[in-house]
Amino acid sequence: MKKIDDLGDLAGQRVLVRSDLNVPIKNDVIGDDGRIRASLPTLVKLSKAGAKVIVTAHLGRPKGTANPEFTLAPVAKRLGELLQPEGITVHFASDVTGDSAQSAVQELDEGEVLLLENVRYDPREESKDEAQRDQLADELAALADVFVSDGFGVVHRKQASVYDVARKLPHAAGGLVLAEVDVLKKLTEEPARPYVVVLGGAKVSDKLAVIDNLLAKADKLLIGGGMVFTFLKAQGHEVGKSLLEEDQLDIVRGYLKEAGDKIVLPTDIVVAPKFEADSPATVVAADAIPADQLGLDIGPDSAKAFAAEVAAAKTVFWNGPMGVFEMAAFAGGTKAVAQALTEVTGLSVVGGGDSAAAVRQLGFADDAFGHISTGGGASLEYLEGKELPGLAVLEED
Ligand code: ADP
Ligand code: MG
Repeated sequence: MKKIDDLGDLAGQRVLVRSDLNVPIKNDVIGDDGRIRASLPTLVKLSKAGAKVIVTAHLGRPKGTANPEFTLAPVAKRLGELLQPEGITVHFASDVTGDSAQSAVQELDEGEVLLLENVRYDPREESKDEAQRDQLADELAALADVFVSDGFGVVHRKQASVYDVARKLPHAAGGLVLAEVDVLKKLTEEPARPYVVVLGGAKVSDKLAVIDNLLAKADKLLIGGGMVFTFLKAQGHEVGKSLLEEDQLDIVRGYLKEAGDKIVLPTDIVVAPKFEADSPATVVAADAIPADQLGLDIGPDSAKAFAAEVAAAKTVFWNGPMGVFEMAAFAGGTKAVAQALTEVTGLSVVGGGDSAAAVRQLGFADDAFGHISTGGGASLEYLEGKELPGLAVLEED
């Protein structure tokens, strides 16, 4: 895969960058700006090389129409604030490839950054029709001389600004994409052992393919979060009103049989009568969940056991919170696992949007972990062993 340095002298060149700036925004206020921060090094590098930097990105799911609810304007503002100390000016175009974008590109000076409006305002971006995507890719390509793919969170998408445009311009992977791929390689090719994978989150069905692929590679697979209850039920236990995916029971039974003691389940569970922050929480044995309650976190014994497995590992991949961390009473398991990850002497990786949000919300610093992936879906698909279109296209000439 080509790097930015392989693109030659970029002074005066118009460089189109696909970034992932898809941050949570409520009432014009940006929540976790981790993805914007993660995109900075590539933009700074290109700017310092004298390039005219044109950034295309998406926000949310506007479904192909210009909906101000999904404007990237607040992101442009934040980007400007973050790049100001570097002396880099950020402009914003009010359309994707239209008059505003075209004239802004013409006026762009060397070293400046221009963010184009939400690329998903254009229905061709996500079109299944290749000819449609191709048209938009042509329009994007016409704005630039070279393309840099740096939006790791979207490289599993066959979309105009990710995939098709890369075929139209000389291209390279940005630093963020290279760093993410480097880490994912370490998780799948000859990981340092013991290799512990911690999976949680809401649904087993989201993570089945990952379990499938990593079961063969990992030494231990610790299961927490909402998916635990499908495992406990598969073992024949009562799970009360907990999250349960009946249709996955057979597959999960198969994993349990195949895995032997590789799969580690919690031995105690924090339960409550209701899915509410102040619902009275108690700890019960994992095989004794009351029929009228639901499990909202792994229990303290399990948290300790999981933390010990994690802290002793040389490679750890963690995806999915251990409980409903958004409510303080059910954040204990997630906090214990996060803390243990910070104590790992080898490689510790946090993947998944909610998991990354969880560690930040619980007060951990990003650099306490070996790597926090910016791409939940993309990293999971990579770990499933799938080919990601946005990476494959970068391997082409
Ligand atoms: P990620 O984005 O890190 O991949 P997921 O999207 O799979 O994680 O899951 C995150 C969600 O799972 C969180 O909102 C959390 O509240 C929820 N969750 C965790 N444990 C439970 C549980 N026991 N019951 C219901 N939801 C849970
Ligand atoms: Mg999620």
